[in-house]
Amino acid sequence: MENASRELLNIVIPCYHEADGLPILESRLANVLNTLESQQLNVELIIVDDGSRDGTWQAIVAWAARDRRVRGIRLSRNFGHQAALTCGYDLARGDAVVCLDADLQDPPELIPDMVARWREGFDVVLAVRRRRKGESAFKLWTATLFYRTLRGLGAGYVRADSGDFRLLSRRSLNALNSLREQHRFIRGMVGWIGFNTTELFYDRDARHAGTTHYPLRKMLRLALDAMVSFSSAPLRLAYVLSGLLMLVTLGYLAYVLLVHFVWGIALVPGWASLLLAIIGFGAMNLFCLGLMGEYVGRIYEQVKHRPVYIVAASAEQPPAAVAAAAPVRLDRPQPGTPAAGELQ
Ligand code: UDP
Ligand code: MG
Repeated sequence: MENASRELLNIVIPCYHEADGLPILESRLANVLNTLESQQLNVELIIVDDGSRDGTWQAIVAWAARDRRVRGIRLSRNFGHQAALTCGYDLARGDAVVCLDADLQDPPELIPDMVARWREGFDVVLAVRRRRKGESAFKLWTATLFYRTLRGLGAGYVRADSGDFRLLSRRSLNALNSLREQHRFIRGMVGWIGFNTTELFYDRDARHAGTTHYPLRKMLRLALDAMVSFSSAPLRLAYVLSGLLMLVTLGYLAYVLLVHFVWGIALVPGWASLLLAIIGFGAMNLFCLGLMGEYVGRIYEQVKHRPVYIVAASAEQPPAAVAAAAPVRLDRPQPGTPAAGELQ
């Protein structure tokens, strides 16, 4: 089974209160793992228990005792899906890594297809849902609204209808792992790092056991993380408002002048100047807030500590002595040792 010369595939599975579902997951995965191993791959499952208080951890421990391909990790408390996923990604040592939900909403049978795409040379293989079974109209509608808003805010890196079911090559995983921001919206980050990306379509099934752990509260938090960490546009809202108020001020000024000088109607003394002062100062305040927003936005970009760019490949001749000693692999460049002649 295990063979050192084969490539290693990690499958990361974040679990939160999934004790009921794990046995079904295990049996569904069994066939898939056999298929993968017959395709010259070693497989290691990294199952992250995100602070469950039901029997999830016990189930993972028992599974790991039965199957040496299973590595269980328990977080000290519930950190949330994106954090559990980050933990799995950090621990993955494989040549490629797939992330899978424990509730089987993402069919594991798709993994061999993802691997095939990866072997064709793609670094990121996104599974894109074609249709969603068993999800409420509300969830579908909010998901559409969410992706539209994100795009509108200039965070166009997110592929609509792609969840966290994806394969990443070693080098794209290294790039993703180099983004160490606290509030993580991994879908967006995967889009941001770039690399050759392809898509596989699939039908999303209904959850096979338990209930969703993304109640409205967590969904809203994820949406906010996504918008705020990929766009400074909300900070500029004050600018827009100040512009609108400025227009109101000018309009009102024109009206007052018209009333007084052209139509000759007497105004209550002090009324116009008071209103103009209120609206005018309001506009000025908002303008200054917007200005502050510009600076805060830049500070925010800076403290995220994202790399300014990510190198995918480079083309250069290896030094002559080294070239004679070690032939250069052209197929899959390892991080840090770019293959000669490779330029994408
Ligand atoms: N999950 C997690 N921590 C959480 C919430 C969810 O690790 O705080 C896991 C959960 O066990 C599942 C995956 O993340 O494997 C997706 O969660 P869920 O199915 O509840 O989300 P939905 O599919 O409804 O968006
Ligand atoms: Mg689910």
